[in-house]
Amino acid sequence: MFCSKCGKEMKKGTLNGRGDNFFLPEGETSPKLLSNKILKKKNAILLPPSSFGIPFCEKFPHAFWCDECKLLIVDYSELM
Ligand SMILES: [Zn+2]
Repeated sequence: MFCSKCGKEMKKGTLNGRGDNFFLPEGETSPKLLSNKILKKKNAILLPPSSFGIPFCEKFPHAFWCDECKLLIVDYSELM
């Protein structure tokens, strides 16, 4: 994978975390509480893994990192 900003080769790895991250489209305000209903109303996209499954989670999404630009590209296609 090559960086879309600078064109250099990106580092390959996985994006690890405690879950419950979500993508919020531009124009939506950040929700104060998190529930599937609220996230849906705000057109947010909940990204795996969910915090509920973390102790058993072995799969994190593949990701690519550009050292130069601090740009992260995450591939969730295998988890959603
Ligand atoms: Zn770059």
